[in-house]
Amino acid sequence: MPAESPRPLQFATQAVHAGTAPDPATGARAQPIYLTNGFVFESNEQAADIFAMRATGFSYSRGSNPTVAALERRVAALEGAKAAVAVASGQSAVLLVLLTLMQSGDAYVSSSRLFGGSLGLMRRLETRYGLTPHFTRGLEPADFEAAITPATRAIVCESIVNPCGTVADLAGIAAVARRHGLPLVVDNTLASPALIRPIEHGADVVVHSTSKFLSGSGTVIGGIVCDAGRFDWEGSGRYNLITEPWPDYDGLVVSERFPETAFATACRLFGLRDLGPGLSPMNAFLTLTGTETLPLRMERHCANARAVAAFLRDHPKVDWVSYPSLPGQSGEAVAARYAPQGAGAIFTVALKGGEPAALRFITGLRLISHLVNIGEIKSLAIHPATTTHRQLRHDEKAAACVGPETVRLSIGLESIEDLIADIAQSLDALV
Ligand SMILES: *Cc1c(COP(=O)(O)O)cnc(C)c1O
Repeated sequence: MPAESPRPLQFATQAVHAGTAPDPATGARAQPIYLTNGFVFESNEQAADIFAMRATGFSYSRGSNPTVAALERRVAALEGAKAAVAVASGQSAVLLVLLTLMQSGDAYVSSSRLFGGSLGLMRRLETRYGLTPHFTRGLEPADFEAAITPATRAIVCESIVNPCGTVADLAGIAAVARRHGLPLVVDNTLASPALIRPIEHGADVVVHSTSKFLSGSGTVIGGIVCDAGRFDWEGSGRYNLITEPWPDYDGLVVSERFPETAFATACRLFGLRDLGPGLSPMNAFLTLTGTETLPLRMERHCANARAVAAFLRDHPKVDWVSYPSLPGQSGEAVAARYAPQGAGAIFTVALKGGEPAALRFITGLRLISHLVNIGEIKSLAIHPATTTHRQLRHDEKAAACVGPETVRLSIGLESIEDLIADIAQSLDALV
Protein backbone atom coordinates (compact mmCIF):
# COMPACT_ATOMS: atom_id res chain seq x y z
CA MET A 1 0.00 0.00 0.00
CA PRO A 2 1.39 3.48 -0.78
CA ALA A 3 2.82 4.95 2.42
CA GLU A 4 1.10 8.30 2.07
CA SER A 5 -2.24 8.03 0.38
CA PRO A 6 -3.76 11.40 -0.54
CA ARG A 7 -7.19 10.18 0.55
CA PRO A 8 -8.56 7.05 2.23
CA LEU A 9 -8.53 4.10 -0.15
CA GLN A 10 -11.85 2.79 -1.38
CA PHE A 11 -13.32 -0.41 0.04
CA ALA A 12 -12.42 -2.69 -2.89
CA THR A 13 -8.83 -1.42 -2.81
CA GLN A 14 -8.60 -2.01 0.93
CA ALA A 15 -9.95 -5.52 0.45
CA VAL A 16 -6.92 -6.26 -1.73
CA HIS A 17 -4.25 -4.22 0.05
CA ALA A 18 -5.09 -3.21 3.63
CA GLY A 19 -2.86 -4.67 6.30
CA THR A 20 -0.30 -6.27 4.00
CA ALA A 21 2.81 -5.12 2.17
CA PRO A 22 5.58 -6.82 0.21
CA ASP A 23 7.63 -8.93 2.62
CA PRO A 24 10.67 -6.86 3.67
CA ALA A 25 12.85 -9.97 4.02
CA THR A 26 12.19 -11.55 0.60
CA GLY A 27 10.04 -9.21 -1.49
CA ALA A 28 7.26 -11.80 -1.57
CA ARG A 29 4.13 -9.99 -2.74
CA ALA A 30 1.66 -12.38 -1.13
CA GLN A 31 1.44 -12.48 2.65
CA PRO A 32 3.93 -15.13 3.86
CA ILE A 33 2.61 -17.85 6.14
CA TYR A 34 4.67 -17.71 9.33
CA LEU A 35 4.27 -21.24 10.65
CA THR A 36 6.37 -20.82 13.76
CA ASN A 37 5.35 -21.09 17.37
CA GLY A 38 8.10 -18.91 18.77
CA PHE A 39 10.04 -15.79 17.78
CA VAL A 40 13.66 -15.28 18.83
CA PHE A 41 14.16 -12.42 21.28
CA GLU A 42 16.90 -9.87 20.70
CA SER A 43 17.68 -9.55 24.41
CA ASN A 44 16.47 -10.40 27.88
CA GLU A 45 15.12 -6.87 28.17
CA GLN A 46 13.07 -7.21 24.99
CA ALA A 47 11.70 -10.57 26.14
CA ALA A 48 10.61 -9.11 29.47
CA ASP A 49 9.16 -5.99 27.85
CA ILE A 50 7.06 -7.99 25.39
CA PHE A 51 5.76 -10.20 28.17
CA ALA A 52 4.83 -7.20 30.30
CA MET A 53 3.19 -5.45 27.30
CA ARG A 54 5.72 -2.58 27.56
CA ALA A 55 6.88 -3.30 24.01
CA THR A 56 5.12 -4.64 20.96
CA GLY A 57 6.57 -7.67 19.25
CA PHE A 58 5.96 -11.32 18.62
CA SER A 59 6.81 -13.91 21.23
CA TYR A 60 4.54 -16.95 20.89
CA SER A 61 1.89 -17.61 18.23
CA ARG A 62 -0.90 -18.34 20.70
CA GLY A 63 -1.06 -14.62 21.44
CA SER A 64 -0.04 -13.13 18.09
CA ASN A 65 1.60 -14.10 14.82
CA PRO A 66 2.58 -12.00 11.77
CA THR A 67 0.25 -13.80 9.32
CA VAL A 68 -2.64 -13.62 11.76
CA ALA A 69 -1.81 -9.96 12.42
CA ALA A 70 -2.08 -9.23 8.68
CA LEU A 71 -5.61 -10.65 8.68
CA GLU A 72 -6.42 -8.63 11.80
CA ARG A 73 -5.26 -5.41 10.14
CA ARG A 74 -7.18 -6.24 6.96
CA VAL A 75 -10.50 -6.91 8.68
CA ALA A 76 -10.05 -3.95 11.05
CA ALA A 77 -9.59 -1.71 8.00
CA LEU A 78 -12.62 -3.13 6.23
CA GLU A 79 -14.77 -2.63 9.33
CA GLY A 80 -13.37 0.81 10.11
CA ALA A 81 -12.11 -0.53 13.46
CA LYS A 82 -9.01 0.50 15.43
CA ALA A 83 -7.87 -3.09 16.00
CA ALA A 84 -8.99 -6.68 15.66
CA VAL A 85 -8.23 -10.01 17.31
CA ALA A 86 -8.54 -13.17 15.21
CA VAL A 87 -9.67 -16.39 16.88
CA ALA A 88 -10.25 -20.01 16.00
CA SER A 89 -13.98 -19.76 15.22
CA GLY A 90 -16.94 -17.42 15.22
CA GLN A 91 -18.13 -19.21 18.32
CA SER A 92 -14.85 -18.29 20.08
CA ALA A 93 -15.27 -14.68 18.97
CA VAL A 94 -18.68 -14.41 20.65
CA LEU A 95 -17.39 -16.21 23.76
CA LEU A 96 -14.36 -13.97 24.07
CA VAL A 97 -16.40 -10.79 23.81
CA LEU A 98 -18.85 -11.93 26.50
CA LEU A 99 -16.11 -13.12 28.86
CA THR A 100 -13.97 -10.00 28.39
CA LEU A 101 -16.92 -7.68 29.09
CA MET A 102 -18.46 -9.52 32.00
CA GLN A 103 -17.97 -11.57 35.14
CA SER A 104 -20.38 -13.83 37.03
CA GLY A 105 -23.44 -11.92 38.16
CA ASP A 106 -23.43 -9.55 35.21
CA ALA A 107 -26.15 -9.50 32.58
CA TYR A 108 -26.53 -8.38 29.00
CA VAL A 109 -29.33 -7.72 26.56
CA SER A 110 -29.36 -9.87 23.47
CA SER A 111 -31.55 -10.03 20.42
CA SER A 112 -33.67 -13.17 20.58
CA ARG A 113 -33.05 -13.57 16.87
CA LEU A 114 -29.57 -14.98 16.72
CA PHE A 115 -27.57 -17.78 15.16
CA GLY A 116 -28.46 -21.00 17.04
CA GLY A 117 -24.89 -21.57 18.22
CA SER A 118 -24.78 -18.14 19.85
CA LEU A 119 -28.08 -18.79 21.64
CA GLY A 120 -26.82 -22.17 22.85
CA LEU A 121 -23.58 -20.63 24.11
CA MET A 122 -25.49 -17.91 25.94
CA ARG A 123 -27.70 -20.48 27.69
CA ARG A 124 -24.68 -22.50 28.80
CA LEU A 125 -22.83 -19.41 30.08
CA GLU A 126 -25.90 -18.51 32.07
CA THR A 127 -26.38 -21.81 33.83
CA ARG A 128 -22.68 -22.60 34.41
CA TYR A 129 -21.05 -19.18 34.75
CA GLY A 130 -23.78 -16.77 35.83
CA LEU A 131 -23.77 -14.44 32.83
CA THR A 132 -27.43 -13.71 32.27
CA PRO A 133 -28.80 -12.90 28.82
CA HIS A 134 -32.03 -10.92 28.72
CA PHE A 135 -33.55 -11.66 25.35
CA THR A 136 -35.52 -9.00 23.54
CA ARG A 137 -39.13 -9.50 22.43
CA GLY A 138 -38.39 -8.20 18.95
CA LEU A 139 -35.76 -6.41 16.93
CA GLU A 140 -36.90 -2.80 17.46
CA PRO A 141 -34.66 -0.42 19.43
CA ALA A 142 -37.45 -0.12 22.04
CA ASP A 143 -37.32 -3.91 22.56
CA PHE A 144 -33.64 -3.60 23.51
CA GLU A 145 -34.29 -0.67 25.82
CA ALA A 146 -37.11 -2.54 27.58
CA ALA A 147 -34.79 -5.43 28.47
CA ILE A 148 -32.08 -3.31 30.17
CA THR A 149 -31.63 -3.71 33.94
CA PRO A 150 -29.03 -2.28 36.38
CA ALA A 151 -26.95 -5.45 35.86
CA THR A 152 -26.79 -4.99 32.07
CA ARG A 153 -23.24 -4.65 30.73
CA ALA A 154 -23.72 -4.89 26.95
CA ILE A 155 -26.18 -5.09 24.09
CA VAL A 156 -25.75 -7.84 21.49
CA CYS A 157 -27.41 -8.24 18.10
CA GLU A 158 -26.77 -9.43 14.54
CA SER A 159 -26.69 -6.91 11.70
CA ILE A 160 -28.49 -9.34 9.41
CA VAL A 161 -30.25 -12.06 11.36
CA ASN A 162 -29.36 -15.71 10.83
CA PRO A 163 -31.48 -17.42 9.48
CA CYS A 164 -34.30 -15.06 8.43
CA GLY A 165 -32.26 -12.28 6.80
CA THR A 166 -33.94 -9.45 8.74
CA VAL A 167 -31.78 -6.32 8.94
CA ALA A 168 -31.45 -4.66 12.35
CA ASP A 169 -31.89 -0.91 12.91
CA LEU A 170 -28.31 -0.56 14.11
CA ALA A 171 -28.33 3.23 14.58
CA GLY A 172 -31.52 2.96 16.62
CA ILE A 173 -30.10 0.20 18.81
CA ALA A 174 -26.80 2.10 19.13
CA ALA A 175 -28.72 5.15 20.36
CA VAL A 176 -30.27 3.00 23.12
CA ALA A 177 -26.82 1.66 24.03
CA ARG A 178 -25.38 5.19 24.22
CA ARG A 179 -28.24 6.46 26.35
CA HIS A 180 -27.52 3.72 28.90
CA GLY A 181 -23.72 3.88 28.68
CA LEU A 182 -23.47 0.33 27.28
CA PRO A 183 -21.25 -1.02 24.50
CA LEU A 184 -23.08 -2.33 21.43
CA VAL A 185 -21.75 -5.65 20.11
CA VAL A 186 -22.80 -6.54 16.56
CA ASP A 187 -22.31 -9.92 14.92
CA ASN A 188 -21.75 -8.85 11.31
CA THR A 189 -21.25 -12.33 9.86
CA LEU A 190 -24.24 -12.35 7.50
CA ALA A 191 -23.60 -8.89 6.09
CA SER A 192 -19.81 -8.75 5.95
CA PRO A 193 -18.31 -5.25 5.85
CA ALA A 194 -19.00 -5.18 2.11
CA LEU A 195 -22.73 -4.74 2.84
CA ILE A 196 -22.89 -3.19 6.33
CA ARG A 197 -20.20 -1.52 8.44
CA PRO A 198 -21.78 -1.51 11.92
CA ILE A 199 -19.18 0.85 13.41
CA GLU A 200 -20.42 3.60 11.07
CA HIS A 201 -23.85 3.13 12.67
CA GLY A 202 -22.58 3.26 16.27
CA ALA A 203 -21.39 -0.27 17.10
CA ASP A 204 -18.50 -0.52 19.59
CA VAL A 205 -17.51 -4.12 18.95
CA VAL A 206 -18.03 -6.12 15.75
CA VAL A 207 -17.62 -9.89 15.62
CA HIS A 208 -17.50 -12.26 12.69
CA SER A 209 -17.48 -15.89 11.94
CA THR A 210 -14.84 -15.60 9.21
CA SER A 211 -15.83 -19.17 8.28
CA LYS A 212 -18.57 -17.55 6.17
CA PHE A 213 -18.28 -14.68 3.69
CA LEU A 214 -14.87 -13.35 4.75
CA SER A 215 -13.03 -16.56 3.86
CA GLY A 216 -15.73 -17.27 1.31
CA SER A 217 -15.04 -20.74 -0.05
CA GLY A 218 -16.22 -22.86 2.87
CA THR A 219 -12.74 -24.21 3.53
CA VAL A 220 -11.63 -22.71 6.82
CA ILE A 221 -13.15 -22.04 10.27
CA GLY A 222 -12.27 -18.78 11.99
CA GLY A 223 -13.56 -15.77 13.87
CA ILE A 224 -12.56 -12.20 14.60
CA VAL A 225 -13.35 -9.46 17.13
CA CYS A 226 -13.09 -5.82 15.96
CA ASP A 227 -12.76 -2.90 18.37
CA ALA A 228 -14.17 0.47 17.24
CA GLY A 229 -11.96 2.06 19.89
CA ARG A 230 -14.35 4.73 21.07
CA PHE A 231 -16.34 3.31 23.99
CA ASP A 232 -15.62 5.18 27.25
CA TRP A 233 -14.59 2.22 29.42
CA GLU A 234 -13.06 4.41 32.13
CA GLY A 235 -16.06 6.72 32.30
CA SER A 236 -18.30 3.72 32.75
CA GLY A 237 -16.11 2.01 35.36
CA ARG A 238 -17.98 -1.29 35.01
CA TYR A 239 -15.42 -3.27 33.02
CA ASN A 240 -12.69 -4.22 35.46
CA LEU A 241 -10.59 -6.27 33.05
CA ILE A 242 -10.18 -3.14 30.94
CA THR A 243 -9.85 -0.37 33.54
CA GLU A 244 -8.34 -2.00 36.65
CA PRO A 245 -4.69 -3.01 37.17
CA TRP A 246 -3.58 -6.51 36.19
CA PRO A 247 -1.32 -7.56 39.08
CA ASP A 248 0.47 -10.20 36.99
CA TYR A 249 1.39 -7.57 34.36
CA ASP A 250 3.12 -5.16 36.78
CA GLY A 251 -0.16 -3.35 37.40
CA LEU A 252 -0.93 -2.78 33.73
CA VAL A 253 -4.17 -0.84 33.21
CA VAL A 254 -5.24 -1.73 29.70
CA SER A 255 -7.36 1.38 29.08
CA GLU A 256 -4.48 3.67 30.13
CA ARG A 257 -1.75 1.99 28.13
CA PHE A 258 -3.91 1.30 25.07
CA PRO A 259 -6.65 3.94 25.09
CA GLU A 260 -7.56 3.49 21.42
CA THR A 261 -7.55 -0.31 21.42
CA ALA A 262 -8.42 -1.15 25.02
CA PHE A 263 -11.06 -3.74 24.27
CA ALA A 264 -9.01 -5.54 21.61
CA THR A 265 -6.01 -5.58 23.96
CA ALA A 266 -8.04 -7.03 26.83
CA CYS A 267 -9.42 -9.67 24.43
CA ARG A 268 -5.89 -10.57 23.36
CA LEU A 269 -4.43 -10.75 26.87
CA PHE A 270 -7.30 -12.59 28.51
CA GLY A 271 -8.76 -14.31 25.46
CA LEU A 272 -5.65 -15.47 23.66
CA ARG A 273 -2.91 -15.60 26.29
CA ASP A 274 -5.13 -17.05 29.06
CA LEU A 275 -7.93 -18.91 27.27
CA GLY A 276 -6.03 -19.70 24.09
CA PRO A 277 -8.38 -20.04 21.07
CA GLY A 278 -5.96 -18.46 18.59
CA LEU A 279 -6.30 -18.75 14.81
CA SER A 280 -3.64 -20.77 13.02
CA PRO A 281 -1.41 -18.83 10.56
CA MET A 282 -2.47 -21.19 7.77
CA ASN A 283 -6.14 -20.43 8.37
CA ALA A 284 -5.36 -16.72 8.64
CA PHE A 285 -3.68 -16.85 5.23
CA LEU A 286 -6.64 -18.63 3.61
CA THR A 287 -9.05 -16.16 5.17
CA LEU A 288 -6.93 -13.22 4.06
CA THR A 289 -7.03 -14.54 0.49
CA GLY A 290 -10.81 -14.73 0.77
CA THR A 291 -11.14 -11.10 1.86
CA GLU A 292 -9.48 -9.99 -1.39
CA THR A 293 -12.52 -10.99 -3.45
CA LEU A 294 -15.15 -10.10 -0.83
CA PRO A 295 -16.66 -7.04 -2.58
CA LEU A 296 -16.99 -8.87 -5.91
CA ARG A 297 -18.47 -11.97 -4.33
CA MET A 298 -21.00 -10.04 -2.27
CA GLU A 299 -22.39 -8.34 -5.37
CA ARG A 300 -23.04 -11.69 -7.00
CA HIS A 301 -24.28 -13.32 -3.76
CA CYS A 302 -26.86 -10.54 -3.37
CA ALA A 303 -27.98 -10.56 -7.01
CA ASN A 304 -28.43 -14.33 -7.00
CA ALA A 305 -30.21 -14.33 -3.62
CA ARG A 306 -32.63 -11.65 -4.75
CA ALA A 307 -33.48 -13.61 -7.93
CA VAL A 308 -33.94 -16.90 -6.08
CA ALA A 309 -36.05 -15.24 -3.37
CA ALA A 310 -38.27 -13.60 -6.01
CA PHE A 311 -38.73 -16.93 -7.80
CA LEU A 312 -39.68 -18.68 -4.56
CA ARG A 313 -42.05 -15.94 -3.43
CA ASP A 314 -44.13 -16.39 -6.58
CA HIS A 315 -44.13 -20.21 -6.51
CA PRO A 316 -47.49 -21.90 -5.70
CA LYS A 317 -45.91 -24.42 -3.28
CA VAL A 318 -44.28 -21.67 -1.21
CA ASP A 319 -46.08 -20.04 1.70
CA TRP A 320 -43.67 -17.17 2.34
CA VAL A 321 -40.12 -15.98 1.80
CA SER A 322 -38.18 -13.85 4.27
CA TYR A 323 -35.76 -11.77 2.21
CA PRO A 324 -36.18 -8.09 3.09
CA SER A 325 -34.59 -6.79 -0.11
CA LEU A 326 -37.68 -7.84 -2.08
CA PRO A 327 -40.40 -5.22 -2.57
CA GLY A 328 -43.27 -5.49 -0.09
CA GLN A 329 -41.33 -7.60 2.44
CA SER A 330 -41.51 -6.72 6.11
CA GLY A 331 -38.37 -4.85 7.11
CA GLU A 332 -37.86 -3.61 3.55
CA ALA A 333 -37.23 0.03 4.54
CA VAL A 334 -34.64 -0.88 7.19
CA ALA A 335 -32.91 -3.25 4.77
CA ALA A 336 -32.81 -0.59 2.05
CA ARG A 337 -31.34 1.91 4.51
CA TYR A 338 -28.57 -0.27 5.93
CA ALA A 339 -27.89 -2.70 3.09
CA PRO A 340 -28.74 -0.94 -0.17
CA GLN A 341 -26.76 -3.52 -2.15
CA GLY A 342 -28.96 -6.29 -0.75
CA ALA A 343 -29.61 -8.08 2.53
CA GLY A 344 -26.98 -10.71 1.90
CA ALA A 345 -27.51 -14.24 0.62
CA ILE A 346 -29.04 -16.10 3.57
CA PHE A 347 -32.80 -16.22 3.97
CA THR A 348 -35.67 -18.50 4.91
CA VAL A 349 -38.51 -19.92 2.86
CA ALA A 350 -41.60 -21.66 4.24
CA LEU A 351 -43.26 -24.44 2.27
CA LYS A 352 -47.03 -24.84 2.21
CA GLY A 353 -46.63 -28.58 2.81
CA GLY A 354 -45.08 -27.99 6.26
CA GLU A 355 -42.19 -29.98 7.67
CA PRO A 356 -42.54 -33.02 5.34
CA ALA A 357 -42.38 -30.74 2.29
CA ALA A 358 -39.48 -28.75 3.73
CA LEU A 359 -37.44 -31.90 4.38
CA ARG A 360 -38.26 -33.42 0.97
CA PHE A 361 -37.48 -30.15 -0.80
CA ILE A 362 -33.98 -30.16 0.74
CA THR A 363 -33.19 -33.76 -0.14
CA GLY A 364 -34.60 -33.25 -3.66
CA LEU A 365 -32.04 -30.55 -4.45
CA ARG A 366 -29.19 -31.74 -6.68
CA LEU A 367 -26.95 -28.73 -7.23
CA ILE A 368 -27.63 -27.02 -3.90
CA SER A 369 -25.90 -28.93 -1.10
CA HIS A 370 -27.62 -30.05 2.09
CA LEU A 371 -25.17 -28.81 4.69
CA VAL A 372 -24.89 -26.54 7.69
CA ASN A 373 -22.51 -23.79 6.58
CA ILE A 374 -23.60 -20.45 5.12
CA GLY A 375 -21.95 -17.66 3.17
CA GLU A 376 -19.79 -19.70 0.86
CA ILE A 377 -19.54 -19.72 -2.93
CA LYS A 378 -21.65 -22.87 -3.24
CA SER A 379 -25.41 -22.71 -2.63
CA LEU A 380 -26.60 -24.53 0.49
CA ALA A 381 -29.83 -25.57 2.17
CA ILE A 382 -30.68 -26.74 5.69
CA HIS A 383 -33.72 -27.35 7.89
CA PRO A 384 -32.94 -25.18 10.96
CA ALA A 385 -35.66 -26.57 13.25
CA THR A 386 -34.06 -30.04 13.27
CA THR A 387 -30.41 -28.95 12.98
CA THR A 388 -28.88 -25.54 13.72
CA HIS A 389 -31.75 -24.44 15.96
CA ARG A 390 -32.81 -27.84 17.34
CA GLN A 391 -31.39 -27.23 20.84
CA LEU A 392 -33.72 -24.27 21.30
CA ARG A 393 -36.96 -24.40 23.25
CA HIS A 394 -40.16 -24.04 21.25
CA ASP A 395 -40.64 -20.38 22.21
CA GLU A 396 -37.00 -19.61 21.37
CA LYS A 397 -37.43 -21.18 17.94
CA ALA A 398 -40.53 -19.08 17.36
CA ALA A 399 -38.63 -15.95 18.41
CA ALA A 400 -35.84 -16.85 15.99
CA CYS A 401 -38.45 -17.33 13.18
CA VAL A 402 -37.64 -21.01 12.81
CA GLY A 403 -40.72 -23.16 12.23
CA PRO A 404 -41.06 -26.78 11.09
CA GLU A 405 -41.96 -25.58 7.57
CA THR A 406 -38.87 -23.33 7.30
CA VAL A 407 -35.86 -23.97 5.06
CA ARG A 408 -32.74 -21.81 5.24
CA LEU A 409 -30.96 -21.13 1.98
CA SER A 410 -27.51 -19.66 1.49
CA ILE A 411 -27.21 -18.63 -2.13
CA GLY A 412 -23.83 -18.94 -3.81
CA LEU A 413 -22.19 -17.78 -6.99
CA GLU A 414 -23.48 -20.33 -9.51
CA SER A 415 -25.35 -19.21 -12.63
CA ILE A 416 -28.80 -18.09 -11.61
CA GLU A 417 -30.47 -20.20 -14.36
CA ASP A 418 -28.98 -23.37 -12.86
CA LEU A 419 -29.97 -22.44 -9.30
CA ILE A 420 -33.56 -21.72 -10.27
CA ALA A 421 -33.76 -24.89 -12.36
CA ASP A 422 -32.58 -26.94 -9.36
CA ILE A 423 -35.06 -25.34 -7.01
CA ALA A 424 -37.87 -25.70 -9.55
CA GLN A 425 -37.25 -29.41 -10.09
CA SER A 426 -37.22 -30.09 -6.35
CA LEU A 427 -40.43 -28.12 -5.80
CA ASP A 428 -42.07 -29.83 -8.80
CA ALA A 429 -41.31 -33.23 -7.28
CA LEU A 430 -43.30 -32.38 -4.12
CA VAL A 431 -46.79 -33.80 -4.16
C1 LIG B 1 -21.61 -19.39 11.93
C2 LIG B 1 -21.91 -18.26 12.82
C3 LIG B 1 -21.27 -18.11 14.05
C4 LIG B 1 -20.30 -19.16 14.58
O1 LIG B 1 -19.19 -19.21 13.78
P1 LIG B 1 -18.24 -20.53 13.62
O2 LIG B 1 -17.13 -20.01 12.79
O3 LIG B 1 -19.08 -21.57 12.96
O4 LIG B 1 -17.85 -20.93 14.99
C5 LIG B 1 -21.55 -17.00 14.81
N1 LIG B 1 -22.43 -16.08 14.40
C6 LIG B 1 -23.10 -16.21 13.22
C7 LIG B 1 -24.09 -15.16 12.83
C8 LIG B 1 -22.87 -17.30 12.40
O5 LIG B 1 -23.53 -17.42 11.24
